[in-house]
Amino acid sequence: MSILNADLHCHSVVSDGTLTPEELAARARQNGVELWALTDHDEIGGQHRAAAAAKAQGLRYLTGTEISITFAGKTVHIVGLGFDADNPSMVEGLQQTRGGRGQRAMEMSESLAAAGIHGAYEGALKYAGNHELISRTHFARFLVEAGVCKETNEVFRKYLTEGKPGFVPHRWATLRDAVTWITSAGGMAIVAHPARYGFTANEEFALFSEFKAHGGQGVEVVTGSHTAAEYVKYADVAREFGLAASRGSDFHSPEESHTDLGTLPYLPGELTPVWELLAHRIQ
Ligand code: AMP
Ligand code: MN
Ligand code: MN
Ligand code: MN
Repeated sequence: MSILNADLHCHSVVSDGTLTPEELAARARQNGVELWALTDHDEIGGQHRAAAAAKAQGLRYLTGTEISITFAGKTVHIVGLGFDADNPSMVEGLQQTRGGRGQRAMEMSESLAAAGIHGAYEGALKYAGNHELISRTHFARFLVEAGVCKETNEVFRKYLTEGKPGFVPHRWATLRDAVTWITSAGGMAIVAHPARYGFTANEEFALFSEFKAHGGQGVEVVTGSHTAAEYVKYADVAREFGLAASRGSDFHSPEESHTDLGTLPYLPGELTPVWELLAHRIQ
């Protein structure tokens, strides 16, 4: 069934969102979400809270995360759904991949200082509910607070991205590791918002081919990061590679996110939704 208000991608204070898992569950229910997943970056510490909050709200729930990987020199995100949140190799793998964030944050702060913006590390840390997960989003919030930019989107246009002040290249997990952690914990690996990466056609073909070879099974088709034309393009990619299709807002914050939980169009009808293959993992 494609006609299901499933929202399988969002962030809480456990990564770079501004709402708690409980606040997100309440908002999802208010917005008519029927099946929900919390997918914090590189972190599954919010999963038991989210599952309990979903139950209290009468929502069906899938465990979730969004793992940062490096592929063809770029950062790519792999969503995992329906895994066992206590699986030791998943817990350890994610802990390892979070490990580099502290050092990176200090280097980002030095780079911003060289551009005349001081105290960014301490400023960003204030916004990080989980210090292990200090992210560019927390720096963006500090730059808005400091009056350097009016909103976080402007920050990402002027800072923190390749070639701009505050950008520090980083090597994340490998595609193979991320897919293996998810699948060996009983879950499904899904390529997040593929239109965002700016890959050439060849690089994108390599991404999906290797992803499939490692055991990946899904792709986000309808996401807050895609245009309507990109829904069509990645519906074609799903068919071409035999991947199931996912749907998720990528909601972070009522103030910053332009797509709210549960407000996207339904998946195109002819695709296999990820929740069909994950029916046995729904709580
Ligand atoms: P990090 O994992 O620390 O590299 O931070 C990545 C996060 O920054 C993403 O998950 C988004 O929440 C945010 N982000 C990246 N690019 C943009 C952008 N262009 N506009 C708004 N937020 C962005
Ligand atoms: Mn984020
Ligand atoms: Mn992402
Ligand atoms: Mn996300």
